[in-house]
Amino acid sequence: MRIYWTILTALALAAPAHAQKKPTSPGREAQPKLAVSIVVDQMRADYLSRFASLYIGGFKRLISEGQVFRNGHYTHSPTYTGPGHAVIYTGTDPSGNGIIANDWYDPALGRSVYCVEDLDVQPVGSTRESDKRSPKNIRSTTWTDELEWASVGASKVFAFSLKDRGAITAAGHYGDAAFWMDDMVGFVTSTHYASQLPAWIESFNRDHNPASYLKGTWERLMDPSVYESFTGPDERPFEGKLRGSNSGKFPYDLAGLGAGNPGLIRYTPQGNQILIDVALAALDAENLGRGTHTDVLALSFSTPDHLGHLMGPRAQELMDVYLRLDLQLGQLFDELDRRLGRGNYYVSLTADHGSCDNSNQAALDGFAVQNWNGRELEEQLNQLIAALDLDEPGVVHMGNDQIHLKSRDDDDWELVRDAIMQHPAVQMAWTADEVRSSCDPKVAMRRNAFDARSGQVFYELKSGHMDYGEEGCTHGSGHSYDSHVPMVFMGPGIPANSDRWERVHPRDMAPTWSMILGIALPSSTTGDPLPFTMGR
Ligand SMILES: [Zn+2]
Repeated sequence: MRIYWTILTALALAAPAHAQKKPTSPGREAQPKLAVSIVVDQMRADYLSRFASLYIGGFKRLISEGQVFRNGHYTHSPTYTGPGHAVIYTGTDPSGNGIIANDWYDPALGRSVYCVEDLDVQPVGSTRESDKRSPKNIRSTTWTDELEWASVGASKVFAFSLKDRGAITAAGHYGDAAFWMDDMVGFVTSTHYASQLPAWIESFNRDHNPASYLKGTWERLMDPSVYESFTGPDERPFEGKLRGSNSGKFPYDLAGLGAGNPGLIRYTPQGNQILIDVALAALDAENLGRGTHTDVLALSFSTPDHLGHLMGPRAQELMDVYLRLDLQLGQLFDELDRRLGRGNYYVSLTADHGSCDNSNQAALDGFAVQNWNGRELEEQLNQLIAALDLDEPGVVHMGNDQIHLKSRDDDDWELVRDAIMQHPAVQMAWTADEVRSSCDPKVAMRRNAFDARSGQVFYELKSGHMDYGEEGCTHGSGHSYDSHVPMVFMGPGIPANSDRWERVHPRDMAPTWSMILGIALPSSTTGDPLPFTMGR
């Protein structure tokens, strides 16, 4: 935060001069100008390889000029947006950073808490109660915090996303700015970061408000036959439709569908474009990458997640969003080259989680899986628990594949564990004690169990089974389709055009940034720098 750093700078200036003269820019000449951290919400690892032959822009450049880790896996579950981003920036699992889910039941408050909610701050640029947001629930510093710390606040850290949690987790506690999108207004923030919107954001919101992006029609970038050969037909039985559309087929009349519904932008390639546009505006307005210290531009693209949920991973629409994101990232890298010079910045790319296939569609194709209605599933689990003779009966809350029980008796927890394993959807269940002590990596994925934010019994659905609506898809499990994400670093000294297949983890992203930037690890990091050798 700026005020805090001003005090520190004043103290530093007041310190007595050392006898030996120090260089004016002590050892900072090797520092990169800009660190660009990209997260693509819900990007499965296979999206980078499956469409590789069609990529000509940013994805192509990351593959050919970067170090690609093909086998990156989360080691926690539930695999959701808040926890995924928090892992990427803190370098530790939810047990270390406290972001165990997007929302969790807080037994002390007796209500659900949103991962970046903060009722003590005020919205800025917005009047929505839902914009009272800050990083206060994150129980670790981030690598962006450590960069601010190391530069005594001189580094500028700017984070943007359509989702508040996609930006706040990146800006960390000390970052200069996190902006997220209010569909009616444009980019907004909270008093944790600023007391008012910068003039350039206000002007961006005036000229580029979300509704202004919904023009013309959305048609496929390439010939329909290309999409057909990669994903199958344009319209499928379990593919959701854009709001207001009675067809699930291209082309989409964006102007018509978007009239009175600016939130539609989130489900179209324009949702990624507005993020690119605000990032380019930030580069100019804030002079990012032109100071004496490394600055950070953190972007989290939310559209692939919004559209993925609606239509599922087989949709031609989703494929088109990735083909266009390739071009949009290419535009960003070209602009960075032009402004800062090739070789003067680093880029990382990963995702906060993957996604499952639609289980109804998979069942049609012959995989015996099922889609479970969340409310019915909860009721059925409750019935199994109600039939037990517990010392202290009662379920306080169910959510995030966790059950909060009234009973503090671990014998009761074991009874509940055994009972819910009889449900045909449940693969496995564990008590909090088992989760704490087990070395089995599958069980350890639930290792967000040790603090007051978690329940007493944990479970996982069988692979391929989905707890969601009839259409589209979701994520959250510990299965490979949800845990497997791309991990890429690109920049001077990083081996180009090289693939690594060993198992690595998104918690390794933060320590890799720490090594590249020569700064401390975030305060709770358990990950390791990725195993590549930096050239000098
Ligand atoms: Zn999602």
